[in-house]
Amino acid sequence: MALKHDWTKEEILEIYNKPFMELLYEAATVHRQHHDPNTVQVSTLLSIKTGGCPEDCGYCPQAARYHTDLEGNDLMSVNQVKAQALRAKASGSSRVCMGAAWRNVKDGEEFDNVLEMVRTINKLDMEVCCTLGMLTENQAQRLAEAGLYAYNHNLDSSEEYYKEVISTRGYQDRLDTIGNVRKTNVTVCSGGIIGMGESEADRAGMLVALSTLNPQPESVPINALVPVEGTPLEEQEPVPIWDMIRMVATTRIVMPETQVRLSAGRTQMSREGQAMCFFAGANSIFAGDKLLTTPNPDVNEDMEMFKMLGLNPQKAFEKKSQPESVDADKSQFQSQGEKPKWTRPGHKIDRNLEAQGKAKTKA
Ligand code: SF4
Repeated sequence: MALKHDWTKEEILEIYNKPFMELLYEAATVHRQHHDPNTVQVSTLLSIKTGGCPEDCGYCPQAARYHTDLEGNDLMSVNQVKAQALRAKASGSSRVCMGAAWRNVKDGEEFDNVLEMVRTINKLDMEVCCTLGMLTENQAQRLAEAGLYAYNHNLDSSEEYYKEVISTRGYQDRLDTIGNVRKTNVTVCSGGIIGMGESEADRAGMLVALSTLNPQPESVPINALVPVEGTPLEEQEPVPIWDMIRMVATTRIVMPETQVRLSAGRTQMSREGQAMCFFAGANSIFAGDKLLTTPNPDVNEDMEMFKMLGLNPQKAFEKKSQPESVDADKSQFQSQGEKPKWTRPGHKIDRNLEAQGKAKTKA
C-alpha cells in the first residue's frame, strides 16, 4: 500500500488525541503490518567532539554560550572511536551514531578524520550514522562514499516553535541538509524533542514536516527533553509518559515504515512506560550510559528489559544492505573547500539571552 504523504496538522492532531486505548490499538496494528513487533534496533551514540558549539539551541548543554558543567573534548581519534565501536558491538549494538557539536561540517582535516571513522566502523560490519550539523551535497556524497548508513539531522519541533528555541539557524537549513542527504544512498534519521514547552499543535506540526517528506525518513527519534542546569530550558517540567506514548503511537501511524526511536529521556521512564512505547510502535533505542551528554540507562539493564519483554536486538543491515566503503585514495568526491552561507535569523529569544547572561555573571 502506498504511504500517505499529505498528512495535515488537523489529521495528525485527531490521531494524537484519540482515546488512549484506541490510539494504542491502531498504532500496534500498523506496527505489526510493517515490522516484527519483537525486534528492536539498538544504537550506540558516541560523542566524538563534545561542547564548545557556537549554536544557541535552548535545550543543549553543548552550546558554548550557556554555563553548564559539561566537560568538552576535541575530536576523538579514529582508534578511540574504533575501540568504542567494538565495545558497542560486543554489547549488542548494530549501529554506532557519531555526534559532533558543530554548526555545520567544514572541509578539512577533521572532516577527513570523520570519513576515516565511518570507513573503520563500516568495516566492522556495523551500521554507521553521523550527526555533524548542516551539510552540503558534496559533503553528503563524501560520507556516502565512505560507507555511511544514516545521517541524523533533527527538525526538533514545528517550524513555528523552532523559532522559540533556536535563533542561530533556520528551519529551511535543516530541510536543505536532509535534501542533500537524500541525493545520496544514505538513509535519513530526523525527529525531535517533546517537553520544550511546545503545544500539541507543534508536535503535530513537526510530524507534518517529517511525514510529508517523500520518501519519509527511515528513522525518527522521539526525545523527551532532559532539562540540564544552565540551559534556557532548565526549568521545564518532565514530559508525562502519556505524552511520550501518544507521540510514539502517532509517529508510528503517520510513518508506518519508519524506525521510531525511543531516544533521550529514557532514564525518567519506568520499564512499564517503555514497554507501552514499544507496544505503540517504538522499535529502536539508544544504548550506553550516555546519550551524547545526558544520562541513559545502563546497557545491562536494557538487555534485562529486552529479556523480560521477549525483545530481540535487530541485526545490522536487516533493513538495507551494507554500503561499500571507498578508501580515501580512491575517492571520486574531493573536498571543494565550500563555504556555504547557512542562514542566521538572529531573532531574540528571551530565555536564551537570559541563560547566556547568567553564564556571564557566573564566569
Ligand atoms: S544541539 Fe547540536 S547544534 Fe545545537 S548547540 Fe547542541 S551541539 Fe550545537
